[in-house]
Amino acid sequence: MAKHELVVIGAGPGGYVAAIRAAQLGFDVACVEKEPALGGTCLRIGCIPSKALLESSELYHEARHSFGAHGVKVGGVELDLATLLARKDRIVDGLTKGVAGLFKKNRVTRYQGHARFVSPTELAIESSRGVETVQADHVIVATGSVSASLAGVELDGDRIGTSTEALSWPAVPRSLVVIGAGAIGLELGSVWARLGAEVTVLEYLERILPGMDSELAREAQKIFEKQGLRFRLGARVQSAKRVGDECVVEIAGAEPLHAERVLLAAGRRPNTTGLGLESLGLELDAKGRIPVDEHYRTKLPSVSAIGDVISGPMLAHKAEEEGVACVEFLKTGFGHVHYDAIPSIVYTAPEVASVGKTEEELVAAGVPFKKGSFPFLANGRAKALGQTEGRVKILVHERTDRILGVHVLGARAGELIAEAAVAIEFGASGEDLARTCHAHPTLSEIVKEAALATQGRAIHI
Ligand code: NAD
Repeated sequence: MAKHELVVIGAGPGGYVAAIRAAQLGFDVACVEKEPALGGTCLRIGCIPSKALLESSELYHEARHSFGAHGVKVGGVELDLATLLARKDRIVDGLTKGVAGLFKKNRVTRYQGHARFVSPTELAIESSRGVETVQADHVIVATGSVSASLAGVELDGDRIGTSTEALSWPAVPRSLVVIGAGAIGLELGSVWARLGAEVTVLEYLERILPGMDSELAREAQKIFEKQGLRFRLGARVQSAKRVGDECVVEIAGAEPLHAERVLLAAGRRPNTTGLGLESLGLELDAKGRIPVDEHYRTKLPSVSAIGDVISGPMLAHKAEEEGVACVEFLKTGFGHVHYDAIPSIVYTAPEVASVGKTEEELVAAGVPFKKGSFPFLANGRAKALGQTEGRVKILVHERTDRILGVHVLGARAGELIAEAAVAIEFGASGEDLARTCHAHPTLSEIVKEAALATQGRAIHI
């Protein structure tokens, strides 16, 4: 029977990064993945393919609607959906093969198959070739998450689907109903709206983008509405069914909606199916997550868990950080993730990004704070780009000036937020950021000006 010091179950960003870091630290490490391609949801059917589609659809949209303002005349702009989808598939293929290359380089042993615990230190790996048993001193569960189902929504893998299907629809639907105004609903809703679909987003709450700064979320909603997305807030979906050639979506207290396709994007749930956790006596919490302590240890000394299967935001980079901290703890007794410095980005146009606390969270916790904000409209580079919507908002502690949260709605917000994450990680004050020289002309000057604004001394407004 094969034996390793460490076996990681799942080769998503949490699992494969944990395995590589473990190899760097000198562990004899293996990674079990049930799919033929490595990379998990993020690389295969999540972050990466959706970003490829977002990029291509934005170029198509810009060629039709924005190039003219730059004096660039383009006639006969046509969509070649097959090429667009094939490009996305090539990107995914290259990156997943890249992870396989990294495993080889770092001598991470790879098992393909579905892992199930036989005991706290023994796994049965089932594949088309049969069942193989592997022993491990320690096991890290990094099996990620899957789309959550919704009562009454009849997923048929075709007209009524999840993000997985919506990454590969072979034709642009005339009409699309998106259930859920979180990251997935807004990103994929934007893709298909840009490509020509009439998109209606149904959201149960009275706001979009739960968890993000509510003021910026309201501003974002107005911008998305101008782009053609329709929103129905406070809409509780009761059912979605295929009736003949169309889909019918029933909403509590309102007329049903009819659409060619439905995308269910109402959250994800931890993926622990078939792991055999119950046989180990490992109980899940009320949300189906694996309970762990601050060092990612379950109540069994030989089993840890990281990423979407434990509590916290379901984000690839959060899982990566946990994977590193988990194996560093196993090796050295130290390993830490600073959860207030984990950025979150929604890749719409413009992007929405945030790190640290929101105003709502600070108010609820009774933390006294000051805020400063600065609009893209007053920034030279944003004007040159022709992307002047949105702003940066910075929250600092009223007495200590420590940066508590940074929220960005605007072009390239996803890149701008990195500076804010570094500032929070280093415990910077608003003044530190305001006194740091930012190159001109760049969008990063908006961050500096927002920091100056927390002190009531922004220059360009
Ligand atoms: P989400 O939880 O972010 O949003 C789901 C939305 O659906 C919520 O606003 C919720 O109120 C709404 N909803 C739930 N039930 C509903 C109902 N019956 N009717 C109408 N609306 C309903 O989930 P998501 O967008 O599916 O994303 C899942 C996870 O994946 C999240 O943790 C998200 O952060 C992560 N993700 C992140 C990114 C990114 O970072 N760019 C991209 C995709 C997914």
